[in-house]
Amino acid sequence: MPVHLEPLDVSADLENFRSVLIVSCPVCPPMCVAMQQNSPFIEFFKRGLKTGAFEDYILSIRKPLEQRGVRTSTYSIHIPTPMMCIWTEWQRSRFLKRARDYEAALVLGCDSATHTVQEVLKNTDCQVIQGMQMIGTTNATLKVRFPLTVELEMHCVLKNGRARQHKTILGGSRKIKKTAS
Ligand code: SF4
Repeated sequence: MPVHLEPLDVSADLENFRSVLIVSCPVCPPMCVAMQQNSPFIEFFKRGLKTGAFEDYILSIRKPLEQRGVRTSTYSIHIPTPMMCIWTEWQRSRFLKRARDYEAALVLGCDSATHTVQEVLKNTDCQVIQGMQMIGTTNATLKVRFPLTVELEMHCVLKNGRARQHKTILGGSRKIKKTAS
């Protein structure tokens, strides 16, 4: 059951950092961005298993940062689980090793993905910023076209038991307060 996520404008929140690691959950976020942009989820012979619209979205965050001299990188892990909400201890410790060299971690994922990152980084100086907001749960039809193209036809977002049509909103990001260790 994919969570429905919408991108947030994080530019102001990233203003004062010299290094930013963009950590993304490879499940709901690429699905949502692809649906919002009416783009394929997977075009295997063009982008492999990556979602073109989501990769372009990440690039649109990185480019202005790098133009200002900010060091950026991306992090995503697929095994043993791609879902950040249930990362294993091994995945958490791998991420910690990678993220501790950055001043900020920008999370492209739901509240649970952000919670995972917040927990992993609670004893570091790395600041956690959530770059997407949860709207509800998605209802869509998955379609497979020749040759190996996967599309998601979105029907609605379910929120508190009610369905509503999708509308993209670009708002401010959420800075996450670090919990005490
Ligand atoms: S962490 Fe959130 S965004 Fe990722 S799979 Fe779990 S529910 Fe979806």
